Amino acid sequence: MDSTPKTIGLIGGMSWYSTAEYYRVINEEVQRRFGGHASARIALQSLDFSEVRALQQQEDWAGAARLLADAGRRCQDAGADFVLICTNLMHKVADEVETALDVPLLRITDAIAARARREGWDRLGVLATRWVMEEDFYVGRLRAAGLEVRVPDAADRAEVDRVIFDELTQGTVLDSSRATYAAVMERLVAAGAQAVVLGCTEIELLVGADHCPVPVLDSMRVHAEAAVDLACGALQPA
Ligand code: GLU
Repeated sequence: MDSTPKTIGLIGGMSWYSTAEYYRVINEEVQRRFGGHASARIALQSLDFSEVRALQQQEDWAGAARLLADAGRRCQDAGADFVLICTNLMHKVADEVETALDVPLLRITDAIAARARREGWDRLGVLATRWVMEEDFYVGRLRAAGLEVRVPDAADRAEVDRVIFDELTQGTVLDSSRATYAAVMERLVAAGAQAVVLGCTEIELLVGADHCPVPVLDSMRVHAEAAVDLACGALQPA
């Protein structure tokens, strides 16, 4: 049997701050497992986030789906054995991207659900962009996997979303926003969350385990580690 790790396709640049973290975590994990000079085979398509953000603001999801599907196909043409969309929000067009590909799409929601089940957590709080917290494409998939999901109230959702797009995706990390996120996480825990999903791939740049009274599930890290598992044959895509 061929034990060479598979090539991981990444649709990134949303934003590049978190794609850089995917690249780092995937390579660190491959080196940890194989040692020496081992590093990951990666086919990366890094999009211009200003273009993606404009499509989000126009709610042109069909246009966004085309952009990401084209990027996914370029990953495939470059040798990717499977593909990741390196953002939670853009899983809003995951079905269209999956349909456009001949290779599997490893969804961030499925990686999160698998990790939560492994840890024995049934009730998750989710911090993310407003579409992720308010629509069904993400939270619904977690619920379909048997998990209960809590999201912040409307005022907290607005502030969490604002911090992501006004600050984190532009590389700004503020202590004041860290305190805000810690308070929102406290409220999710008070509402029964056993763990909090950092459901935007830049949130780990702002807060982590030290800022939350229950464990956090960093979507970027969980997704990146699932990619290495799949590349090494230790995981099957859903
Ligand atoms: N990286 C963020 C996420 O994981 C938001 C950026 C975006 O894709 O719009 O949802």
